[in-house]
Amino acid sequence: MDIAVRAIDSSGSIRAFAVSTTGLAREAAAIHKCSATAAAALARVLTAACIMGMTLKDEKDLLTIQVKGGGPIGKIIAVANSRVEVKGYADFPQADLPLNPLGKLDVGGLVGRNGYLLVIKDLGLKEPYIGQVNLVSGEIGDDITAYYSYSEQVPTATALGVLVDRDLAILAAGGYMIQLMPDADPGIADRLEKRLKDIEAVSSLVNRGYTPEQVLEYVLDDKNIRILEKRSLKLVCDCSRERIERVLISLGKEEIRNILEQEGKAEITCHFCNQRYVFQAEELKNMVSQ
Ligand SMILES: [Zn+2]
Repeated sequence: MDIAVRAIDSSGSIRAFAVSTTGLAREAAAIHKCSATAAAALARVLTAACIMGMTLKDEKDLLTIQVKGGGPIGKIIAVANSRVEVKGYADFPQADLPLNPLGKLDVGGLVGRNGYLLVIKDLGLKEPYIGQVNLVSGEIGDDITAYYSYSEQVPTATALGVLVDRDLAILAAGGYMIQLMPDADPGIADRLEKRLKDIEAVSSLVNRGYTPEQVLEYVLDDKNIRILEKRSLKLVCDCSRERIERVLISLGKEEIRNILEQEGKAEITCHFCNQRYVFQAEELKNMVSQ
């Protein structure tokens, strides 16, 4: 089962998050019929959304990540709430690229590097909080790190990984994020930076059966981390017939009449879960007359 944990190190200087997302990555790839590279790209953004969802405080808070790098996959969107229920999609999930020169899935190439990563936090205030950074590599992990460093000014290290088999099936997916507390000893940052350079990849750890707690113990080299929160992760779409109907109604009478004349019915597919909703002529007529 996919799990998310939030923790603090034994010295109280580092807050840390880790998630295992293998199930979620496979499920999203199946729903969207993703190519192997697109599956990895979408899984990384979903994994980031799970981690960032853990930073939300209120029950109703909602976080959206939008990545647009000008690459063949188009835009990738992921949404998470504070219960770490996530959903996501990519514009062109079937787009693919050959393996990169290192023999790895070319996520950076598929996403592209000429664009931005946008984070929208709806915290129930009048206006949502919006932060944006230019993409660093399109590999997502680096881009999330850049987002926290520039947009939120929190020293952060992020690792997001998806491991695929020879046949390109997803073997493991997961990630972690580490942040220094404002009053942390600068020596800790140096030590962490050195350690992060040559530790094992997170997807490989998850593949070897490491739980998110064990991933953090290993990454922080600390057997006494304190787990503050642990949740199971779910891919959930909150679309419904009523919600889609409200969207249709919001198009206005004129537009609904156009659909009626041209199509005879309205067919709408949810981007996030591919659920198809059909509204027959009679229903459309009712919307117009109301
Ligand atoms: Zn849906």
